[in-house]
Amino acid sequence: MKRIFTKIFFGYLLIIIVLILPILYFSFNTISENYQRNLIQSQINISHTIDIDIQPLLLSRDLVKLDSVVKDLGGNINSRITIIDINGKVIADSKANPTSMDNHADRPEVVKALQSGLGTSVRHSYTINQDMMYVATPLKVNNALFGVTRLSILMEDYTSLINSLEYKILQIVLIVAVISCLLALFLSRTLTKPIIILAKASKDVANGNFTIRTNVKTNDELESLGDSFNNMIERLESLFNQTNSQKDELNKIISSIQEGLVVIDNNGLIILSNDSFKLITGYEALIGKHYWEVIRDNQANKTIKKMIESEINITAEIELKNDFFICSANHINDKSELVLIFNNISELKKLEYIKRDFVVNVSHELRTPLTVIKGYIETIEDDIEEKNKKYISIIKNHTNRLINIVQDLLTVSQLEDINVKLDISDIDLNSLFENLNNTFEQKLKTKNITLSIDYNNNIHGFMADAFKLEQMFINLIDNAIKYTEKGSIQISASPESDHIKFVISDTGIGIPIKDQDRIFERFYTVDKSRSRQLAGTGLGLSIVKHIVNLHRGKIFLESESDKGSRFTVLLPYSSTLNG
Ligand code: ADP
Repeated sequence: MKRIFTKIFFGYLLIIIVLILPILYFSFNTISENYQRNLIQSQINISHTIDIDIQPLLLSRDLVKLDSVVKDLGGNINSRITIIDINGKVIADSKANPTSMDNHADRPEVVKALQSGLGTSVRHSYTINQDMMYVATPLKVNNALFGVTRLSILMEDYTSLINSLEYKILQIVLIVAVISCLLALFLSRTLTKPIIILAKASKDVANGNFTIRTNVKTNDELESLGDSFNNMIERLESLFNQTNSQKDELNKIISSIQEGLVVIDNNGLIILSNDSFKLITGYEALIGKHYWEVIRDNQANKTIKKMIESEINITAEIELKNDFFICSANHINDKSELVLIFNNISELKKLEYIKRDFVVNVSHELRTPLTVIKGYIETIEDDIEEKNKKYISIIKNHTNRLINIVQDLLTVSQLEDINVKLDISDIDLNSLFENLNNTFEQKLKTKNITLSIDYNNNIHGFMADAFKLEQMFINLIDNAIKYTEKGSIQISASPESDHIKFVISDTGIGIPIKDQDRIFERFYTVDKSRSRQLAGTGLGLSIVKHIVNLHRGKIFLESESDKGSRFTVLLPYSSTLNG
């Protein structure tokens, strides 16, 4: 802050010095020149007066008298008078004996006076051993040039006068300079004070002090700048308070959320987290740590890494310390930050396990008695009276349906088991389709439906669980036959860049648009009675979907009522999940 004051003050000082120096230089020169000019002029005037006084003596050539008159005149004035004839001989002198003096014909002032009418010179006089100023003018007698009248004055007198004058000027200039400096000091202070106040206030604001206000009373633009500054700080303070209270509120909301919440940047550093997330991880201080330092589970960290790298928002199931979470990841701020929300689904999982165990146990328990019943029905079927035969047939159908349901339930439960393993092996599509053809040969004949299988013989390197793959095709082909009255069924397999595309299409009754979304749900059937008639369980497509998912594949349905259905299954060449 001192710098601006120093700059202004020294700026003024420089201006004062720059102004004073030439003033001094020119005034000293002018004074000295003027004084010298006046001095010469006065000497010329004196010379003329002397010339008039000594005219008679020159005419009479009374040199003794001339010398004594010159000495008298010289005693009355400060100047020394020397009368020199045209040959340079001194004929009278107010201070010395002219006969003892040298010839003055070579003296510069004498030469100049005789040549141009006036000769001046400043030099050392060896006669009186002092610096002198000489002024010589031509001396005429009866209008004829006689010689030169020379007046000389001591330079000492001249310089002391000039010095005293210069000294006076210097004194005045110094007084003016000191007053100017004081004024410069005052002006610099007045100018910089409000700037210093504003600068200090800005610094305080930058350090977070919004209570600061400036009090600049200069009645000019700086005062209005100070007022604007105060208004700005007031506005900033209210905005800051507003932001703070919003931040507090947001923090309270985040802390009160039951789900674990954590925000990480794209380097994996934790920026924000709530209490529930602290409970999940067991760490108190999380900010500034990497997520893998607090989530100490390899599988979970791999999933989170994928979420960070992914372009889209992902939801995945994560297991942490024997608890299960649905973790949803949302990218914010152009993907530079990621919000992860951990929803604890352990209770739901437990219920799901209990339900699945129950289904598996019940199915197991039911399987044996149902098989026994079926056996007995078949044993007594032939011996039964004709009138009761239709009852036995109904009992047999329902028993078969029950056995199918129990079997499908067991299959679904096995596929849903998290420990389910795929028995991956090289798939020979030739033998797969041959088996399928043989399996459905009879059914196709009965319904008079043709099955065409079209596939590329060059498909190699396709790995899958052979048994489950066959199960998938059996369910899809079985449905196609069940729900097609006339026409044909087509199966095709074609290799694509990173997967194989299987298409199973039929010319059957099709599936209405409204049901297509739910068709893969358990026990979902379009027409319950028709499904029951055809010994359907409502579990076939659910099994298909599970098998496709286990192989990390995808299944799509395109269908139109009364025109047919087309199931497209995309399976990767090699499925690594659980493999
Ligand atoms: P279901 O044992 O009843 O066939 P699925 O799960 O296999 O059970 O099929 C569910 C429902 O989807 C069936 O009830 C049927 O209405 C419909 N569906 C499945 N495949 C076809 C198909 N190819 N053509 C017409 N409808 C079908």
